[in-house]
Amino acid sequence: MIINIPKGTKDILPSESYKWQWLEKRIRDTAAQYGFKEIRTPMFEHTELFARGIGDTTDVVQKEMYTFEIAERSLTLKPEGTAGVVRSYIENKMYADPQPGKYYYIIPCFRYEKMQKGRQRQFHQFGIEIFGTENMMADAEVIALAWNFLTGLGITGLKLHINSIGCPKCRGEYRKALQNFLRPHYDELSETSKGRFEKNPMRILDSKDPDDKKFSEGAPRMIDYLCDECRNAFEDLKTDLDALGIPYEVDPNIVRGLDYYTKTAFEFISDDLGAQSTVCGGGRYDHLVEEVGGPYTPGVGFGMGLERLLLILEAKGIEIPKPSDCDVFIATLGDRAKLEGLKLADSLRAKGSRVLTDVMGRGLKAQLKYADRSGAGYTVVIGDDELDKGVVTLRDMINSTQKEIRIDEIDEEIHR
Ligand code: ATP
Ligand code: MG
Repeated sequence: MIINIPKGTKDILPSESYKWQWLEKRIRDTAAQYGFKEIRTPMFEHTELFARGIGDTTDVVQKEMYTFEIAERSLTLKPEGTAGVVRSYIENKMYADPQPGKYYYIIPCFRYEKMQKGRQRQFHQFGIEIFGTENMMADAEVIALAWNFLTGLGITGLKLHINSIGCPKCRGEYRKALQNFLRPHYDELSETSKGRFEKNPMRILDSKDPDDKKFSEGAPRMIDYLCDECRNAFEDLKTDLDALGIPYEVDPNIVRGLDYYTKTAFEFISDDLGAQSTVCGGGRYDHLVEEVGGPYTPGVGFGMGLERLLLILEAKGIEIPKPSDCDVFIATLGDRAKLEGLKLADSLRAKGSRVLTDVMGRGLKAQLKYADRSGAGYTVVIGDDELDKGVVTLRDMINSTQKEIRIDEIDEEIHR
């Protein structure tokens, strides 16, 4: 029986992997421009970390986690990047380093969700985090990095939606107002939303259930309940974005809806994605480090979906340059030539060239045919006869010319 790939996952074949490599390089270069250093945390963590760090009233924690037990320990494949970084930041006492701490990562994420366009069970995120500052300059920098990265790829028509979801101080009053608004329809809410009514009513606004959506219409908005501190912070952020010339729209419907997510929430939306239109989402989490057991440390960051980003590039017709496969193919005829070919391949590779040689034991004609398909810029043909003269044939595959050349001149010739 054939064993198929698990639903919701994808192979990234060589015909696609160069795109990922190209994208990852762009990411690393951009992160470096802003002073972010890479952090690598494990693929799985104690389940408890995600329950606390993402929130046990969220869809991700309630329905989407790949959780398994080993030796009576509950572990979970990471569904997002922030929680693991926060755990590591605390455990390694990185709050004692000069602040801000600025970290980035490129990771696979795992969520048990329904497969759709732009929605997989294993997908990839580029994420960044800044720890240690409440200043909105950090939020502006996080947003600017995403904006410059995405527009720098040539993506147009992106929309940036921003919101403030307040802080534990101002959320209390808002919560009551929201509960009072929803209470008359309590019985008609979905079971999930009923469960969130007391603990975390803001999440009801994010529900995908049509009834929940209907009863949420016209609900009070967090942005109208901000305390002075949160309102001023939001004004600061807008001033910074204006100064940077980054266009945005205030969207009071963006919610994160957990006590440790505070103030800034934002999304980058593309109309090239269909229903799953958000390519990047992020915001501030001033109480998350405390929630996970560390000292009070404010933070802000984003997660960007790389599959969705590639979908946008494709829809926009933005081509990722395909690297040539190989510089030189070495074809040989005869036993002595074969050995000489092996040595030549070795020495050219040692000098940095990308070299293919026949490992199939094919005849010369078949080797040359393969050389043609290999994308090699040059083919070196070595025959026993020529070896006696100390020369080989160097064929320029692009200009279809060829000449005899001494073996020790090949490297110089192909790098000219
Ligand atoms: P959505 O509303 O699409 O479910 P989300 O709020 O669950 O998104 P986040 O947790 O903020 O998403 O993750 C950040 C980004 O990761 C998203 O904006 C999206 O680009 C990407 N992403 C999230 N879930 C998936 C998935 N199942 N498949 C592919 N990409 C995803
Ligand atoms: Mg989701």
